[in-house]
Amino acid sequence: PASAATDETYVIGTDTTYAPFEFNDGTSLKGIDIDLLDAIAEDQGFTVEWQQLGFDAAVQALQSNQVDGVMAGMSITDEREQTFDFGDGYFTGGIQFGVLDGSDIQDLEDLQGQTVAVKTGTQGQTYAESLEDELDLSITPYNETTDMVDAVKAGQAVAYAEDYPVIGYGITQGSGFRLIGEPALGGDYGFAVNKGQNPELIEKFNAGLANLKASGEYDEIIETYIGSGS
Ligand code: GLN
Repeated sequence: PASAATDETYVIGTDTTYAPFEFNDGTSLKGIDIDLLDAIAEDQGFTVEWQQLGFDAAVQALQSNQVDGVMAGMSITDEREQTFDFGDGYFTGGIQFGVLDGSDIQDLEDLQGQTVAVKTGTQGQTYAESLEDELDLSITPYNETTDMVDAVKAGQAVAYAEDYPVIGYGITQGSGFRLIGEPALGGDYGFAVNKGQNPELIEKFNAGLANLKASGEYDEIIETYIGSGS
């Protein structure tokens, strides 16, 4: 550790099932977000108390000060920066649609007049809404990524909008989906706190992230879940 341990414990909200960033493997909560923030905490001498709330619930918990921060594959956007302070970006994402392997849908135009699933409060929802008029989409919001996936499998939607690293990870795990379109609304994921509050936590996050990048531990964590070059 680069600094002496303190007694500080921060309560951090995260998503529920959002592999490879956070998920339960049957034994424990793990994933890139979890391992990264736990390693930063160790490096910076604080303790993380994780709360698996779901994405929208975690963001709302932060706004109502029930948690100190959110680490949930949360994209840094101009709109969110009005409300939150973000640490340095730690992963680059972007939104695509996932369709079942056997689907007729090959590109965005094939979504014309169809129903798509989105997750409430996410960039995926923002992206689908940006295409709503042009493609005459019906958009059904869900709370969890697993709910979107189930909706498509059950035929209640033909596609779901999601960060492509998450759809892509599922594909490598045999989800039976494929990606269509090109990544949109790209941008970095950031650790968030309420604007103007907890600046010291953002400082610790950034210092710890820089240390993990310098030591190679950042790369090790990423490679644990998605391999090098991904
Ligand atoms: N990256 C997306 C966003 O910030 C989705 C995050 C998530 O679903 N956990 O909106």
